[in-house]
Amino acid sequence: MTRTRFAPSPTGPLHLGHAWAALVAADHGRMLLRIEDIDQARARPEWEAAIYDDLRWLGLDWPEPVMRQSERMAAYGAALDRLWARGLLYPCSCNRRDILQAAAAPQEGAPLLGPDGVVYPGTCRGASRAGPRPAGVALRLDAAALGNLRWTERGASRGMDGATFRRTIGDPVLARRDMGTSYHLAVVVDDAAQAIDLVTRGEDLAEATPIHVALQGLLGLPTPDYLHHDLVRDAAGKRLAKRDDARSLASYRAAGWTADALIARLRESRIAPD
Ligand code: GLU
Repeated sequence: MTRTRFAPSPTGPLHLGHAWAALVAADHGRMLLRIEDIDQARARPEWEAAIYDDLRWLGLDWPEPVMRQSERMAAYGAALDRLWARGLLYPCSCNRRDILQAAAAPQEGAPLLGPDGVVYPGTCRGASRAGPRPAGVALRLDAAALGNLRWTERGASRGMDGATFRRTIGDPVLARRDMGTSYHLAVVVDDAAQAIDLVTRGEDLAEATPIHVALQGLLGLPTPDYLHHDLVRDAAGKRLAKRDDARSLASYRAAGWTADALIARLRESRIAPD
């Protein structure tokens, strides 16, 4: 059976958008659960407990044990070590303002936006890659090493060449200074560890897929298939966010909605009911 996953971050209440993501994962295979809690400054045990409650209320289940990213730092470190040993990473000490300023320099043209914000202009690319992997500093992947990438989206073949990657994505951060890993690295290592065949997630993350496919190639991991689904929006067309407590599953539940009615409504329309 196809293995899919639902990978929420325990940084707030699950809202209808999360419910839709979990339903899509469960519709397409055996849904595994992964708690994406690398941001330990924002993750809370009570939000993790609420995730299990909300998913059970929706009638979903998943194999145990649940993977928790905060327990997987050694696996992320090992992947970074392999990339570092091949000279594919470099330390970067730029902060957001440095990046904006360098990207806005007149010779650069208008700053390009990539999946992680402004495309990094490569300021630190010349930093030393010798010696053991440095800690306490951000590490970026040197995208110069990348060739053609291929993957499938809903069964259709997709691709990106290295030059397009460098221009539109740049050198992604694989280890954040404060975390020792990043979303991109953790998701790739864990999708492989959970043997995920089909990654289902919101279309807001589609832009990150070339980064993930590139990392799978460099780390010798299989590339799963991808399916990016539509997002749940409010009546004004704005996508739901964690701070939209009014659209949390718990508040629909408190207002008397049954799980069946909410699921039926979601399948019909991705506009959140009032
Ligand atoms: N943790 C991410 C989120 O909460 C999902 C990551 C993924 O599906 O790749 O939106």
